[in-house]
Amino acid sequence: MNNRYDVIVIGGGPAGMMAAARAAARGVQVLLLDKNEALGRKMLITGGGRCNLTNDAGIHEMIANIPGNGKFVYGALHRFSGQDLRSFLHQLGIPTKVEERGRVFPASDRASDVVQALGKHLQQMAVTVRYQTRVDALLVQDNRCLGVRAGDKKCLAGAVVVATGGMSYPRTGSTGEGYKMAKEVGHSITRLFPSAVAVTCNDPWIINREVQGVSLPGVTVSVYNQRGKVIAAEAGDVIFTHWGLSGPGVLRVGRTVALERQKVPAAALKGAIDLLPGQPREDLEHDLAKKVQAGDRRSVKNLLADLLPERMTRVLVTLAGIRPEAPAVQLNKKALQDLAALMKGLPVQITGTRPIEEATVTGGGINSKEVDPRTMGSKIVKGLFFAGEVLDVDAHTGGFNMQVAFSTGFLAGESAAAFVKGDS
Ligand SMILES: Cc1cc2nc3c(=O)[nH]c(=O)nc-3n(C[C@H](O)[C@H](O)[C@H](O)COP(=O)(O)OP(=O)(O)OC[C@H]3O[C@@H](n4cnc5c(N)ncnc54)[C@H](O)[C@@H]3O)c2cc1C
Repeated sequence: MNNRYDVIVIGGGPAGMMAAARAAARGVQVLLLDKNEALGRKMLITGGGRCNLTNDAGIHEMIANIPGNGKFVYGALHRFSGQDLRSFLHQLGIPTKVEERGRVFPASDRASDVVQALGKHLQQMAVTVRYQTRVDALLVQDNRCLGVRAGDKKCLAGAVVVATGGMSYPRTGSTGEGYKMAKEVGHSITRLFPSAVAVTCNDPWIINREVQGVSLPGVTVSVYNQRGKVIAAEAGDVIFTHWGLSGPGVLRVGRTVALERQKVPAAALKGAIDLLPGQPREDLEHDLAKKVQAGDRRSVKNLLADLLPERMTRVLVTLAGIRPEAPAVQLNKKALQDLAALMKGLPVQITGTRPIEEATVTGGGINSKEVDPRTMGSKIVKGLFFAGEVLDVDAHTGGFNMQVAFSTGFLAGESAAAFVKGDS
């Protein structure tokens, strides 16, 4: 690999593929390196294999959904928006569709179609792609990036784009090597944490698998800090597992839990699930009381089965200190109040999150204060650019992370080409 290119891009995920395509579109010679045997390994598993590639939201709503340094990517999102991405993919033969909550998918529902189309586009743009090439280090002299080293081979370039991803789902190739490379040349890495991640609990009824697999659509999950203040509250579906809570509603609060646990490592945080967010507590109490007064002959457990899955009602009733099989007509006012209170705020003890390797996204990364948001260029090393999840930017689920990768990739590729051509 002893040769020279105008731009080298490290990493063939969405950020790297877009950076390579954009640099090539600006008329420079591009080499894309990935340590895997194929491009877009992580992309293939996104959105359950359907690839939620962006969101239909406008730029301000997008930034509101990027809690980790959303403002830093304002320029990139402006330069290459969700709509730009959709038009670009449309030109590559990938029409897209919008689903609920603005989530955008390829019309075919196949992530592999998107990866294939991007790969074909790179070929058409004459980008050289080398697989199974793990970059070990950046070559830097006098604060100028001169190329990369992979094993004992060196490759020189006018500019380098690091798009190596985070460190979640390492089997896809994202193992955090970009952090090491950047650190070696003077960049700081902000503390890494799991974002968009499931939370762990130690409530006996959860870890004893009483509700394992139970899914509750459209509930609200709240998390309280040790002073009892709500630090996160999100609506969405929740799924119980034998170690805690998962599902879209939980992934959004997982980030806050991870950050809070970094502040106070041993703290168990209190959580509460509003099982019926659309119904005020008084109405719920009133409805239950009406059924009881009307002489409903069912057991307590079955009375609640109109509202919740059976296994969940059994847990609720037990937590309220009532026998699940007791006749509903025996419930007094206090028991009804207790049940309604539990349904509006089922307490859970949150002990932490699943590890970073299992998180959808890695929070933290290359310190964005050291990167120019107008170009994605390093403020420390000339000719060095960053794109995608390797940066300290993380978003909620819903297509926002992929859009960040594509937008920062586009801007980094464009800027790297301009740098090489002396236009910047
Ligand atoms: C299960 C799952 C589902 C997801 N679903 C969605 C979704 O539907 N929508 C969404 O917006 N986001 C989703 N995400 C997040 C999204 O996939 C990532 O944010 C996005 O892929 C980041 O893109 P990237 O190009 O920065 O990094 P990556 O996609 O991680 O790509 C990095 C690439 O760099 C290569 N690489 C790493 N180190 C080296 C090295 N030293 N030398 C050479 N190559 C190297 C890797 O092999 C890899 O190909 C999901 C994530 C997961 C784990």
